[in-house]
Amino acid sequence: MRPLGQLGDLDIDFAGTDRPRLVTALLARFGERGEPSYWWSRPVGERIAALLRLVALTEGRDELSLSARCTVPECVELFEFTLPLHRLAEPDGDDGPVTATLESGALVSLRRPTGEDLQRWRDARPASRAQAIEWMLDALVVAGECTAGDEPVVTAALTEGDPLVDFTVACRCPACGIAIDVAIDLEELALRRLSAQQRALLQQVHRMASHYGWTEAEVLAVPPSRRARYLALIEDDQ
Ligand SMILES: [Zn+2]
Repeated sequence: MRPLGQLGDLDIDFAGTDRPRLVTALLARFGERGEPSYWWSRPVGERIAALLRLVALTEGRDELSLSARCTVPECVELFEFTLPLHRLAEPDGDDGPVTATLESGALVSLRRPTGEDLQRWRDARPASRAQAIEWMLDALVVAGECTAGDEPVVTAALTEGDPLVDFTVACRCPACGIAIDVAIDLEELALRRLSAQQRALLQQVHRMASHYGWTEAEVLAVPPSRRARYLALIEDDQ
């Protein structure tokens, strides 16, 4: 995997609404494996872990500092917490089926949803939540039988099997002491951070090109650490 920072990386369009396709394109571009078909076939949790590795590598940091607001109406304290990027970004290596025990005691075995599944469900546009659930169960159940009523149990088993997909951080409000589970869309967070890095890169090119008259390629050929020193010098001149 390489960090975001080359000339062509300025062309990535983060503004589109097709998230599965954007994630696949990013992983194929920066990831250890270059074929989009490989990343389409990987479980959603594994794709998110790889995306977080890309954020860690591009930003050069092991953790992210985030903030959330206390949910108690009389409190609403804004507090900070840390997301251990390096730990979340480690692939757990388990992509086997997940087992759910239904209320009847019967067992069903499910495969983990992949990028391809997300894309297919997105393109097919389910008319209702019930239809979305039906499609999900049809696609994912590999052994056993379940109905739409089993969805909460099945979803809980899938979440447990792939915690990055429906991710929460257990926090405690420093003001009132209440326990709060902060839900974080890790995929959205990673895309937002990468998009911000791309904007920062463009800003660097702009400042150095304006100051020294260099081309985009010449600016980006300077290693990031040396670039930071030039930018500090430009700052001093102003
Ligand atoms: Zn509070």
